[in-house]
Amino acid sequence: MNCTQCSSGVLKPSFIDGLFRAHTCTHCGGNWILIEDFVTWKERNPDHEFTEEPDWQAEAIEDTREALLCPVSGGFMTKFKITAQSEHRIDYSASVGGIWLDKGEWDLLKSAGLASTLNRIVTRHWQRNIVKESSKESFEGIYLAKFGQPGYEKIKAMKAWLDEQPNKADLRAYLLTKDPYSLF
Ligand SMILES: [Zn+2]
Repeated sequence: MNCTQCSSGVLKPSFIDGLFRAHTCTHCGGNWILIEDFVTWKERNPDHEFTEEPDWQAEAIEDTREALLCPVSGGFMTKFKITAQSEHRIDYSASVGGIWLDKGEWDLLKSAGLASTLNRIVTRHWQRNIVKESSKESFEGIYLAKFGQPGYEKIKAMKAWLDEQPNKADLRAYLLTKDPYSLF
């Protein structure tokens, strides 16, 4: 099987951390993992805890920006974000059920505490949560920049209180009226 990432290496059978079956590129060091192999291993070792690489360096990780081709089907693979915080994306071939990890990305997953849930990263549910989390984070950023920390905290508390009141419509009207004691 030829490597579709670097186009110069060959994907050779290997074991990730000596644990589960994969294929590793002889040239770029990327890994091709079948979800099936990972899940089979996980079912047999449900309590395995992954340890972080002691000499792990974020800068050493490569990330392919352009779309990759699946080494098995030859079709385009889909990119999936690993976490809301990280810009790193792994490549997934849905038709084959395979994941491509660039060199170092397995260590990134371990350091993020996500190695044991590798198969879940590519599920719809996982992706939905990331979208939700990042939009919440970006809204918070916008409000913080607008109101400042003390102002934001205060208005948040005020809104929470307001939303609980049975007569909240009247309270909001009072708040929004420039002079609530004048008829005009
Ligand atoms: Zn390669």
